[in-house]
Amino acid sequence: MDIEAIYRDANALLEGHFILSSGNHSNRYLQSAKVLEEPKRAEILASALAKQIKDSNIEIDTICAPALGGVLAGYELARALGVRSIFVERKDGAMQLRRGFDIKDGEKILICEDIITTGGSAMEASKVVQELGGKVVAFASLANRGFCKRENTSIESQKECKLPKDIPFFALADFRFEMFSPNECPMCKSGSQAIKPGSRES
Ligand code: ZN
Repeated sequence: MDIEAIYRDANALLEGHFILSSGNHSNRYLQSAKVLEEPKRAEILASALAKQIKDSNIEIDTICAPALGGVLAGYELARALGVRSIFVERKDGAMQLRRGFDIKDGEKILICEDIITTGGSAMEASKVVQELGGKVVAFASLANRGFCKRENTSIESQKECKLPKDIPFFALADFRFEMFSPNECPMCKSGSQAIKPGSRES
């Protein structure tokens, strides 16, 4: 499956001159939510991710996603794996499990995101799950920005990756973008104006 083509067809992989959340500039940007706006497409992607997880024989009771970004991906992955789907959300600055969701002692939980960059939100969700007695057995995301090593690839994690090395991380594809600090960005030097895609009005 050509994951990059699927993202491009969905207008989820943008080309231009962008400011990333890190503040760096890039000529590419992943607008992750766009790839999930068609439920059929979400189902196809989640099924492919579920297949990798099933093939690894890891036992999973429940998917837990950090809101907002991970919720749709987590729900579709739970459907594909035939397990329960819950999410944690930020309240007063901290991730919490709310809305009557619970976690049983020793429950085997996979943390799911739409995209993993360094894994910061996924680790916050993981901490909540563990504090409530759950056991985090895997991480998964549809897209991987390439800082963390995913299963079935030989590319090592970079120092920015926050995911633990001893828990498997599954993703469909790596999206490694060339990044520039604003001072050294060749697109800025040629006079182009960088935009923040998330804040565009159109
Ligand atoms: Zn620039």
